[in-house]
Amino acid sequence: MDSLWSKNTVLPEFEPLREDLKTDVLIIGGGMAGVLCAAFLEKEGVDYRLAEADRICGGTTCRTTAKISAQHGLIYQTLLDRWGEELAGMYLHANLAAVERYRQWSRGLDCGFSDQDSYLYSRSAQGKLEREIRALEKLGYRADFADSLGLPFSVVGAVRFPDQAQFHPLRFVAGILPGLRIYEKTRVVSIDGKEAITDRGKKIVAQKMIFATHFPIVNTHGFYFMKMYQQRSYVIALQNAQTVKGMFLDEALGGYSFRNADGLLLLGGAGHRTGKDDGGWQELRSFAGKYYPKAREVCCWAAQDCMTLDKIPYIGRYAGRKREWYVATGFQKWGMTSSMVAAQLLTDQVLGRENPDAPVFAPGRRMEKRQLAQNAIEAVSDWMHVSQKRCPHMGCALKWNAAEHSWDCPCHGSRFDAGGKLLENPAVRDL
Ligand SMILES: Cc1cc2nc3c(=O)[nH]c(=O)nc-3n(C[C@H](O)[C@H](O)[C@H](O)COP(=O)(O)OP(=O)(O)OC[C@H]3O[C@@H](n4cnc5c(N)ncnc54)[C@H](O)[C@@H]3O)c2cc1C
Repeated sequence: MDSLWSKNTVLPEFEPLREDLKTDVLIIGGGMAGVLCAAFLEKEGVDYRLAEADRICGGTTCRTTAKISAQHGLIYQTLLDRWGEELAGMYLHANLAAVERYRQWSRGLDCGFSDQDSYLYSRSAQGKLEREIRALEKLGYRADFADSLGLPFSVVGAVRFPDQAQFHPLRFVAGILPGLRIYEKTRVVSIDGKEAITDRGKKIVAQKMIFATHFPIVNTHGFYFMKMYQQRSYVIALQNAQTVKGMFLDEALGGYSFRNADGLLLLGGAGHRTGKDDGGWQELRSFAGKYYPKAREVCCWAAQDCMTLDKIPYIGRYAGRKREWYVATGFQKWGMTSSMVAAQLLTDQVLGRENPDAPVFAPGRRMEKRQLAQNAIEAVSDWMHVSQKRCPHMGCALKWNAAEHSWDCPCHGSRFDAGGKLLENPAVRDL
């Protein structure tokens, strides 16, 4: 299903890898994270190659809503409580720097970049918003309280981050692609030490590897299958709906997001764990029918993102024993800034430089046993579900997704079309 972005932008094509190859750094996966890593390594003069299973940015990146913001829900109070001021400050600093870097890189690119204020609104919990503002104050950042938002329903207020941004993600990528060393239609199907094997049986020998595959594809290290799951969300693009001044998100679970693009209103939300039945376009349509009765739907799409158990992405060394492997995942639906953070951080690590913000994103950080147990219970109960279709990733029972005609894995989020063709990883082969 085409998003607004893929409907009107075709990216240049790259050849598949047709012979064995040696390189210093192999980037696996060409979404926003992989492409930005390639752009950074190119600038540093590093010998790298990027292998993309299908087309560049054909995964979650082309179905994003492309808000570029350091405001990631009510994250700062949570970070302060759990990790303290130093680590919370790193998260804020890295994401604000990412917004700024997009601003610089977008200059001169025809990518619809525009400065926007970002609002986290609430329909009932003013106290939570005030606490978030106080948490940000502690970190040295001035967010303010806004109460007049121009949304078509009542709110108790919002936390406003000034000078964030939005853009057209594929036009931005089109602007930075020239000169990058990329192979498309080149899926990595197995990895052994420094060797990656592609679906055409070609061997890539690399001193270092960056896993930018959205969900990491190797299970035997890092255990991402235990500490992450995927969540699907939906977007509809509306014509004749009221425009919004800024980018908006509800602080409450299950609330909606709003931004304008090309004269349309993008209404997003209605999410659920991949493989479950809640939410979906119908929920968004009934909301639109109530609040934008004159609007007409121009297009709709759905996508999923990787969710970590403590709300912080995993960016850094893949696993303690794999010093030469790096990972960028778990973006929590904030993958525009997180991809930029990842590209800077991983480039520094690949080049042996210290990155001051690395500790907060470290994939090897401590997880709470309660969170791990919750995710494990969910996965095991899905695994035990009776189904004739089993996921080749870890054997979990697949569920039929009637709205999108696909077989979806509730444990880790792999998806397959009705004929069994792989749509989304971590699986690396068809049913
Ligand atoms: C509905 C929705 C709205 C969102 N809105 C926003 C927003 O407003 N702002 C924001 O910051 N974030 C947003 N996000 C999140 C953001 O879009 C994602 O976090 C980001 O696009 C993920 O980028 P990625 O590069 O990690 O993954 P992807 O874009 O999925 O790229 C991964 C790539 O790896 C390739 N790959 C996978 N396996 C292999 C393999 N074995 N070999 C080779 N290649 C492989 C895939 O083909 C794919 O192209 C949203 C997410 C959703 C679902």
